[in-house]
Amino acid sequence: MSDNDASATKEKTAARPAHFIQNIIRKDLEQGTVKQVITRFPPEPNGYLHIGHAKSICLNFGMAEEFGGLCNLRFDDTNPEKESEEYVNAIKADVHWLGFSWNGQIRFTSDYFEQLYQWAVHLIEQGKAYVCHLSPDEARQYRGTLTEPGTNSPYRDRTVEENLELFEQMRVGELAEGSCVLRAKIDMAAPNINLRDPIIYRIKKAHHHNTGDAWKIYPSYDFAHGQSDAIEGITHSICTLEFEDHRPLYDWFLDNLPVPARPRQYEFARLNVNYTITSKRKLKQLVDEDRVDGWDDPRMPTLSGMRRRGFPAEALRNFCTQIGVTRADSVVDVGMLEYTVRDHLDKNAPRAMCVLRPLRVTLTNYPNDKMEEMRAPGHPNREDLGERVLPFTHNIYIDQDDFREEANKKYKRLVLGKRVRLRNAYIIEADEVIKDEQGNIVEVLARVVEDTLGKDPTDGVKAKGVIHWVSATHHLNCEVRLYDRLFTDPAPDAGGKDFMQSLNPNSLEVLSNCKAEISLASAKLHDHFQFEREGYFCLDSRYSTLEKPVFNRAIGLRDSWAKIEQTQ
Ligand code: ATP
Ligand code: MG
Repeated sequence: MSDNDASATKEKTAARPAHFIQNIIRKDLEQGTVKQVITRFPPEPNGYLHIGHAKSICLNFGMAEEFGGLCNLRFDDTNPEKESEEYVNAIKADVHWLGFSWNGQIRFTSDYFEQLYQWAVHLIEQGKAYVCHLSPDEARQYRGTLTEPGTNSPYRDRTVEENLELFEQMRVGELAEGSCVLRAKIDMAAPNINLRDPIIYRIKKAHHHNTGDAWKIYPSYDFAHGQSDAIEGITHSICTLEFEDHRPLYDWFLDNLPVPARPRQYEFARLNVNYTITSKRKLKQLVDEDRVDGWDDPRMPTLSGMRRRGFPAEALRNFCTQIGVTRADSVVDVGMLEYTVRDHLDKNAPRAMCVLRPLRVTLTNYPNDKMEEMRAPGHPNREDLGERVLPFTHNIYIDQDDFREEANKKYKRLVLGKRVRLRNAYIIEADEVIKDEQGNIVEVLARVVEDTLGKDPTDGVKAKGVIHWVSATHHLNCEVRLYDRLFTDPAPDAGGKDFMQSLNPNSLEVLSNCKAEISLASAKLHDHFQFEREGYFCLDSRYSTLEKPVFNRAIGLRDSWAKIEQTQ
């Protein structure tokens, strides 16, 4: 199964009713206002991408694909202190893994620093920008409030010459950090506070991951974004709703600068998922405080975490299609994400057997030196996934949870004195238990019921249930890691709550003595499997070794949380 085949997702996208951005683009193309769609995905390299970014990636790259256009990958790197090469590389890998290719080289806002600087000079020359020495506190007072207009800064009416000179001093590093800023001269009484002479350049004597120490001043997001879009000829600049109030400013800069193109900004609702946090800053806190095993911890909602856990890229793309694109804020149930993963893996993951908590069973009537090769399909409805060979021997392992000395009728597994079917093999009957000094069951003695391969027993005593097993002499020793949701609170960070308080203490369970069927010895990284009756698994990219494979459970076979919530 290939994670990177975007075509299946495309078919599904096409079958859904068009969303508002598709409608806008279609109209622009029909009316000829746009010849070729060019979108961009503009992450800031200050952390790893998360599930929310997947929505934005699928939308931006998806629109370009659907309408025969192009999508750029542009790093919005105007904040040197928080950005790094590590994040740049991780983001590139994640976008690729999701199944998308960007147009040409990757781009950086920092590639445009010289041009942006020239445009700032242009604004000054036009009398539309000035250097301001108000302290942050003073600036706040001058800004006014939502109900009261602001007041003009005393530095607002400086001459062009004075502004040019001061801005040059800012640029070469002659002025101290925080001593002044460059502001656009728009309107201190504008109802939209973003238009009240916003800051466009700050002094920051910080090392930049791309431009090194070349710059002592850095543009604001607002001064950089629209202009970068214009430089790249972006036609539809798609972003999340929190930028809606910035759109007038986006437009003001484009209208007041000699830019080579006129992009338009469109906003959609960001993806929120319950039991999850989607903020790079907060995810970074989990990493920095060692609450998780790095950005790619399989419990993290990062793309690298979900990849390591075993969520296929195609399942994430399907999820992004399912949730749709609107302008209405909402919270998506994480159960829907889990369902999409489960649904995809059910259709595509080959089956295997793995005993997580082994209990030894000796088949007293099956010769010690005998071995039969049982055959089992790779997948119940996918012949293309071939066949597995399961060695059947005198000693086998079953799961401790699949045996009881006594049980009521609801328990359809092995009970002392009763029968059970071993999956893809014989029916057995349990005769005796062997216990250690503490009274723990350490072994079960059982018998194979003759002539029950693929048949009911001739004596008419049927087995009620089917359990999985592996040979005790021909198997693969492995470790299995079971994951649960990282947070117990459906809204871990709502209303400023401390999300550290609702970390799920049981979100990781490590089982180090597991026994998998021997066919799994040839499992490769990023292969997915259904361990029958246990869930969907893949090899862990960090801890798995040839000597000791480590399997991550991507997701269980059913939603265990839905049940808990219903009974609450
Ligand atoms: P975070 O708060 O996690 O750092 P961000 O918006 O600051 O998110 P960026 O790197 O600036 O992160 O985001 C890149 C793009 O992804 C932006 O266009 C942004 O609108 C979009 N994006 C970020 N979070 C979400 C989300 N939860 N749902 C949809 N799109 C998102
Ligand atoms: Mg951002």
